[in-house]
Amino acid sequence: MSTVRSELCFTFTQENASFKAKVEELSGEKIDLCFQCGACSSGCPLTAEMDLLPSKVIRYVQLGMEEVLESKTPWICITCFNCEIRCPRGIDIANVMEALREMVLRTKYDRFTLDQLTPEELKELPQIAIISNQRKLTA
Ligand code: SF4
Ligand code: SF4
Repeated sequence: MSTVRSELCFTFTQENASFKAKVEELSGEKIDLCFQCGACSSGCPLTAEMDLLPSKVIRYVQLGMEEVLESKTPWICITCFNCEIRCPRGIDIANVMEALREMVLRTKYDRFTLDQLTPEELKELPQIAIISNQRKLTA
């Protein structure tokens, strides 16, 4: 009889613990309160644009997986707080998204520059939208 070996083994290392602690420090949220009910993801209006659901982002952070910094989800989040309102554990997921963005921006990596916009877009877009986008997406 053949034995099926699980490939789902995960060892929580010191690096994982440090990453999780850093996100908790920056966000002010207690990540381990999350029990993965999915209420945040079900209420988020932007999941169709995300590569990781908000609840999955939280799970990555619980496990201290730095790969979450490569996700586009924190950049898609519009800080609408629908998730926070629904979370039975009182976690402000938008704060976690902000912490993850901050961690990327601290590496001085620009995610957006004005020359990516066409002259028409620059003319049409409200100034406040451009300025907020610059604050959110550039180092
Ligand atoms: S704050 Fe962000 S993650 Fe939460 S529901 Fe709104 S867009 Fe989705
Ligand atoms: S709603 Fe709260 S407890 Fe439920 S998965 Fe999202 S963060 Fe976790």
